Amino acid sequence: MKWDIQAQSEAWNARGLWRELREIESVSGPVIELHGRELVNFSSNDYLGLAGSEELQDALYEGVDRYGAGAGASRLVCGTQSPHLALEKSLAQFKGTESALVFSSGYATALGAIPALVGQGDTVIIDKLCHASLVDAARLSGAVLRVFPHNHLARLEKLLQTANGRVLVVTESIFSMDGDRSDLANIIELKNRYGAWLLLDEAHAVGVLGPQGRGLAAELGIEAEVDLHMGTLSKALGLSGGYLAAKREVIDWLINRARSFVYSTAMLPSLAHAATKAIELMAGSVGDERRIRLMQHLQQLNGGKSPPSAILPLILGEESAAIAASQRLMEAGFLIPAIRYPTVARGAARLRLTCTATHTKVQMDALQKELATQGFH
Ligand SMILES: *Cc1c(COP(=O)(O)O)cnc(C)c1O
Repeated sequence: MKWDIQAQSEAWNARGLWRELREIESVSGPVIELHGRELVNFSSNDYLGLAGSEELQDALYEGVDRYGAGAGASRLVCGTQSPHLALEKSLAQFKGTESALVFSSGYATALGAIPALVGQGDTVIIDKLCHASLVDAARLSGAVLRVFPHNHLARLEKLLQTANGRVLVVTESIFSMDGDRSDLANIIELKNRYGAWLLLDEAHAVGVLGPQGRGLAAELGIEAEVDLHMGTLSKALGLSGGYLAAKREVIDWLINRARSFVYSTAMLPSLAHAATKAIELMAGSVGDERRIRLMQHLQQLNGGKSPPSAILPLILGEESAAIAASQRLMEAGFLIPAIRYPTVARGAARLRLTCTATHTKVQMDALQKELATQGFH
């Protein structure tokens, strides 16, 4: 078998799927510099604008001052310091669970947690539009993987009726490329009826939805019904890292058996220190004020109505159409990248527009005008 990477790349490119890294030369809130040009960024997941906040920068510096640069070892060896435990305590409190565990990313959280909890003879039932980390984790677990069409509860129920072993239902609160919500209340009713567990990934809901930005389950008042609360520190919390919050016995098991936790160096203690600050900001008045501003921006782009999330997809279909639209918006001074297969289905290419609380009214008005000029409604 020949290693013809060049031909493989050319074929990929010919399908309009080629991607390249873009070097952002500077970032100042929602304004970035790319190829020497200033663009207003409408593609970040930093929904509350905390990533650029002085408070978080100061917390990181303070963390480095107190705890040094590196963690030095994995958590179980000698990498657990006080800021890790403080962060986990504050995440558990934020999510209303007994316990929580942090990982180096959201991706690593899924890859560690799911295979530690289910394996051969068990069943994972997952929404078709779930994030790659959840799909990869389910595959890695060795459990039978069953997929239901997006938010199709009748099909979910059929799969629950025939599932074997431990049964884990996996879904998200906000779907990352469509910006819509799962039918959480009914999914919970179903998983309870069939004695399954639910893993809910709140990556795009934390910070945006619910009291104190605690997410969709909190908004609906059904946090206690979710068995495994997953999330990331890298979106509205503005930093990086992932977490799983659950009952004490689950977390203690993950500390023993989640391979991406056990065999990976601990999160930087300075980062853990700053993340605790990020939760405090998000859950407090800073978060409340920023959520109000974010919602005003979203309503402006959504005909005055509140959209389900901070993600507004503009679906174009053809890969080439999405690239061309993104290019035109860039020429007009806005960064809104095209999202294509394999991130979304073939022929469902789109612009994925996100707002952040730190966009100004002037920036919002300019974008609204440009979108209208280009025929988006
Ligand atoms: C971004 C994302 C992740 C991964 O989180 P990282 O911290 O970026 O690794 C997991 N699940 C969903 C739904 C996401 O959108």
